[in-house]
Amino acid sequence: STTDKCGMPQKGQRKGIGMIVAVGSGKGGVGKSSVSALLAVGLARRGQKVGILDGDITGPSIPAMLGVKGLPTGSPLGIVPPKSPTLGISVMSINLLLEDATKPVVWRGPVISNTIKQFYEEVLWDGLDTLIVDLPPGTADAPLTVMQSLPLDGFVVVTSPQDLVGMVVEKAMHMAQMLNVPILGLVENMAYALCPHCGQRIQLFGPSRIEELSKKWWVPSFASLPIDPVLSNLSDRGLLEEYHNQSVLDDLVEGFLGRKP
Ligand code: ADP
Repeated sequence: STTDKCGMPQKGQRKGIGMIVAVGSGKGGVGKSSVSALLAVGLARRGQKVGILDGDITGPSIPAMLGVKGLPTGSPLGIVPPKSPTLGISVMSINLLLEDATKPVVWRGPVISNTIKQFYEEVLWDGLDTLIVDLPPGTADAPLTVMQSLPLDGFVVVTSPQDLVGMVVEKAMHMAQMLNVPILGLVENMAYALCPHCGQRIQLFGPSRIEELSKKWWVPSFASLPIDPVLSNLSDRGLLEEYHNQSVLDDLVEGFLGRKP
């Protein structure tokens, strides 16, 4: 049966994965997928075996960002996900299965949720140090089911300055709290721009409110990432593995590792 005695969806097996973490956001476009991919890159550079389950079924961007092109292959034990070219990050995404990646996935919530569950259950993630689940944005049916049905160790929340003003991000945090998934930390993306001439930080949206949120919820803020044209350019070319703003990656990875249970 897929539900427990109380009718709650039963969590999948752990598959010997060291840490399973969901990356979520209050709404789309804040850089959730970029942060998922950067976290994977940072951890892989430190020698971890990392996988990303691209749960953003209607807006899958992980394979394109990391230049993953191979097809998942079948084996008697399950589906073997293809790997990124340089760091060998395993990736499973609906985009790897679509014949035409520009065609939309027009599916209703339950079908999306089931696909994500299959991407967990039927894929050979076994033996990874960290599996990162790039959640669908927001707090609708699909992210909710994923949070309920995967054996998550924690939740990383990605937010942007404008999202912080509206406190949309807190909806995602409340969702995690309601489902008893520990919030490991916050990542503020596109927090500032760097002047190309003098290196000064320019806060395009005014002073950051990340500290306010961090205090209110008693969760650390791991990192504030700048708006970085190099980042979006590498993403667009499928070369995110080559991102070399090491201080940004270090903040992200150390914040994350520091919170590992
Ligand atoms: P989400 O997963 O929240 O929808 P994405 O990670 O797909 O957001 O990011 C949306 C777009 O913004 C992408 O084109 C990405 O390359 C760009 N982007 C995200 N974060 C940054 C950043 N810090 N600097 C520059 N561009 C960024």
